Amino acid sequence: MASTHIVRHLRQNVISGGSPRGRFFRHPEPPRERTRVWPVYISFQGCPGRCVFCAQSVQAGAPPVSLGETLAAMEGGLAQAARDGRGPYELAFYGGVFTALPEPWPRRFLEAALRFRRAGLIGRIRCSTRPDACPPGLLAELAGLGLDLVEIGAQTFDDAVLIASGRGHDAQATRRAARAVRAAGLDLGLQLLPGLPRHDPAALARDVAETCALAPSLVRIHPCLVVEGTALADLYRAGRHVPWPLEATIDALAEALVPLWRAGVAVARLGLAPQPELEAAIIAGPRHPALGDRARARALLALVREEAAALGGAPAGLFAPRRFAGQLLGHAGELAPAYAALGLPRELLRFTRDEVFFLAAKAV
Ligand code: SF4
Repeated sequence: MASTHIVRHLRQNVISGGSPRGRFFRHPEPPRERTRVWPVYISFQGCPGRCVFCAQSVQAGAPPVSLGETLAAMEGGLAQAARDGRGPYELAFYGGVFTALPEPWPRRFLEAALRFRRAGLIGRIRCSTRPDACPPGLLAELAGLGLDLVEIGAQTFDDAVLIASGRGHDAQATRRAARAVRAAGLDLGLQLLPGLPRHDPAALARDVAETCALAPSLVRIHPCLVVEGTALADLYRAGRHVPWPLEATIDALAEALVPLWRAGVAVARLGLAPQPELEAAIIAGPRHPALGDRARARALLALVREEAAALGGAPAGLFAPRRFAGQLLGHAGELAPAYAALGLPRELLRFTRDEVFFLAAKAV
């Protein structure tokens, strides 16, 4: 039984006799796949314009190069990795609109990738794209060439925000594209960008509900940062864009996580991967090295709060799976006062080898 350790501990230390009273619950987060990614930056190729927030040139960490050079670098790098016995990797085409590359480039990239896949160096292949660049026929063709997952840069489902951000598509395009990706037999990923001009936490909650309804297999959430050299930086300097504060962003992310997890959606990343070039170019916006962990910890606190409310009385202690030991009280223990307010000071928190949580009720 999953709760053997908890029950034994309760019998020995908390409960004088009989069965333990309280609530067992599981963390709802679906398992996160941990793959090694081989990124291929396609340098704004396929983009119809430059989105106001986009800092792909900085994220790539290198000046743009032609598609021919990108393909040659990809093949050369993968061939070297194969000789070194490294891998397997998930090949990921980023930094442009893969499905809007001029013909025959999507096919060329995928045919090259397929050779390395057959050799066992590549496990999966994914690309990112825009909602208005997902024609069903092309998606079916790319699926046939070995593409596994298409990540759509939805950013938000709020049309006013999409207009204010100059995206050039509406939310309906995202819904259509998501259905087309799944109809082509591809896995669906969605990227959300909370904090764009005119976006607020209530709009993020609506975005999350829309996202759950589209049932992607993964979601990435990157809170909007103001990066030097973007149109958003000009708006910010002109006082026409106010970034979300850090604490409000972490709270909004935490509120987004619970419904996504409960819908079975894996949240792959919260915030951009740390990169020195990008860090140096950020001029404003909610950033913190432990942003994702802080949001996950607050989401877990929300789950414990729900259970405490359902307990209907004072808790005698919380037993948590050991793998949450570093997360439960939050970054630098910032959530300890919130747990204490629930009647769960540090001394009533225990970690076990079980995969379930148990919120024990006080004996009456
Ligand atoms: S956000 Fe995507 S579509 Fe927009 S400019 Fe950047 S890479 Fe191109």
